[in-house]
Amino acid sequence: MLGSDEHVHHVNMDKEDNSVENLHLCDNKTHSSYHFKTWKLISELYKCGLIKFDPDVGYYMSPDLASFAYD
Ligand SMILES: [Zn+2]
Repeated sequence: MLGSDEHVHHVNMDKEDNSVENLHLCDNKTHSSYHFKTWKLISELYKCGLIKFDPDVGYYMSPDLASFAYD
C-alpha cells in the first residue's frame, strides 16, 4: 500500500503498464514536477513542429512516434 505522500509515476505515461521498470515511486511534489516538466516538454515539441494535436484521436501525434497522451 502507498503512504499518503507516495505516488507511483508511470515512466512511459501508460497507466495500463504496471511492469516494475515502468513504475517509479515518488512523493506528491516530485510527481507533480514530473508531469509539469513533461507538459513543458510537449509544449516545446509542439512549438518545434515535432508533434501535432490530433482532435480526432484526442492525442498529440508525431509522424515518427506512436501516439501518446499526457497523463
Ligand atoms: Zn505520473
